[in-house]
Amino acid sequence: MKNVAFIGLGVMGYPMAGHLQNNGYNVTVYNRTTAKAQQWTEQYGGNFASTPKSASEQADIVFVCVGNDDDVRQVVLGNDGVLAGLQQGAILVDHTTASAELARELSAAAKQQGIEFIDAPVSGGQAGAENGQLTVMCGGEKQVFEQAQPVMASFAKFSQLMGPVGNGQIAKMANQICIAGVVQGLSEALNFAQRAGLDAETLVETISKGAAGSWQMENRYKTMYAGEYEFGFAVDWMRKDLSIAFAEAQKHNAQLPMTKMVDGFYQQVQDMGGNRWDTSSLIALLKDK
Ligand code: NAP
Repeated sequence: MKNVAFIGLGVMGYPMAGHLQNNGYNVTVYNRTTAKAQQWTEQYGGNFASTPKSASEQADIVFVCVGNDDDVRQVVLGNDGVLAGLQQGAILVDHTTASAELARELSAAAKQQGIEFIDAPVSGGQAGAENGQLTVMCGGEKQVFEQAQPVMASFAKFSQLMGPVGNGQIAKMANQICIAGVVQGLSEALNFAQRAGLDAETLVETISKGAAGSWQMENRYKTMYAGEYEFGFAVDWMRKDLSIAFAEAQKHNAQLPMTKMVDGFYQQVQDMGGNRWDTSSLIALLKDK
């Protein structure tokens, strides 16, 4: 697992690929906008390729981190895609947050060529990617996961095999369902406390130590009070993730009433022009009222 390819140098992929290169792997990157790939090699060393196929030709393991299901299909399948370049015995790891169906589709396509596949969406946001502290939820076979895990440790503090292919994505859906509810609850509490005249610092210092505490509370309350929403995971991405979760939930007859409501609030944030605001911007809807 010495030669690595990384496809997609966005907010997440750029620093993740950087950690791999810094950890001694020979990394070849591909990015649709070539200037970013050039910038990456200037910063970290390594090489960049002009197609996902050529990036993957020498790779033992390829990581993908792009936008949605169709974006993954574009860079993996097709004439210039990863699977056209990869050698038999290599491993393909998809870090994109996508559907479980896509994971199964890619796994089947990879298997036909003797290539192993793991779906591996991440949690931890931009800061987690930059600090190499991501959590990775994986779906696939145990012995493949065990080969990939030490490589992923370059940018992950924890990775877990959740079961067969697709289960990594389903775990990520559960993660996003949790976040939707927590952020709405926190928004309502902070807005309520502010209107009732409580001091924010004292409030959070106190209740964060008890059962109401959360990552969102500790890391976002100050910026939520200040109306600053430029800190990571965009509302557009969240709505993409929730729509994937709704489709999966329907298959299992799992009810998501609160998540549906919060998704509607995120739509209102988009209507305010907050597409690229981070997910804590739910509080903006309450401030306006
Ligand atoms: P981003 O900053 O928007 O970057 C997306 C990357 O994918 C860019 O490199 C983009 O290339 C590339 N890309 C998109 N569509 C493509 C296509 N059709 N063909 C080729 N390349 C394509 O996104 P991100 O924030 O890094 O997120 C990436 C994935 O991780 C998403 O699935 C997201 O839901 C998930 N995620 C994000 C976070 C977060 O906090 N940001 C946290 C957890 C999970 P260009 O440079 O050419 O546009």
